[in-house]
Amino acid sequence: MPELPEVETVRVSLARDMIGRKIKAVTVTNGRVVRRHKSAKDFRALLEGHSIKAVQRLGKYLIIELDNSNHLVIHLGMSGQLLRAKGAKDPKPKHTHVVISFTQGEELRYVDPRTFGELFVSQRPPEDAEVEISKFARLSIGGEGLGLRHQIPELAHLGIDPFEDQIGWDRFAAILRSRSTALKIVLTDQDIIAGIGNIYADESLFAAALMYDRPAESLSTIEIRRLHRAISEILTEAIKHGGSTLADEQFVNPDGKPGNYQEYHQVYNREGLPCYQCRQPIKRVTLRGRSTFFCDKCQG
Ligand SMILES: [Zn+2]
Repeated sequence: MPELPEVETVRVSLARDMIGRKIKAVTVTNGRVVRRHKSAKDFRALLEGHSIKAVQRLGKYLIIELDNSNHLVIHLGMSGQLLRAKGAKDPKPKHTHVVISFTQGEELRYVDPRTFGELFVSQRPPEDAEVEISKFARLSIGGEGLGLRHQIPELAHLGIDPFEDQIGWDRFAAILRSRSTALKIVLTDQDIIAGIGNIYADESLFAAALMYDRPAESLSTIEIRRLHRAISEILTEAIKHGGSTLADEQFVNPDGKPGNYQEYHQVYNREGLPCYQCRQPIKRVTLRGRSTFFCDKCQG
């Protein structure tokens, strides 16, 4: 499933050439991906004729701001891809569910074999509207995150975004100390920390030398600072490498190119292979239905 680094990779790519483009027409061939709307027609009507003002991100959501201050919000789900095409004549990949055509002829296509992803247009609430923001996000002292949640109430529940919200390690400590659940569960709960999923939780925990099942509240100050730093370092590195592309869920950027951060994974998807630090085999357990990879010698 695409996580923060993969969505950020898409954002950076789209921000390069989508800003200022005007949407001419939208075609929806699978209504499931626009399920928040009454109909595909309703979704299309909110987009057609509008230009793109900005491309942003919050957690695993890609946010395209329109010239009327509404936002097209996209979640790639398990297997969603946004692909640019030069024009309608470019062959359409199988499972293309939405095509956004621009006045200059180019297209942006949403492709999703498993159809867990979604697109919706969020209508900006009035300035004085009461939006209930996540109590974790409210700990933020800067960044774009709070503004985005006010403008897009559907995303107000999201927890701290490691880049769009600013919290120092001390506020991060307050969050961890309020949770008795396993670290991995806390890190991947989108309502606590937004953007981290299975891959980057495992990689961050390895980088911080912490076991996935440690109760979050049990960490010492030094361990909290280590984890806080590890999360931002791992995510930054992953973005630099264009995200991770795994064999089963083929993430690609809008130009169809895979990321290569999977070559730098220390534990994820490496069950039985030697740990790069201690040579012991990497272990795997199933936690809440999903695989967790770790080194029980290096992590404690
Ligand atoms: Zn090890």
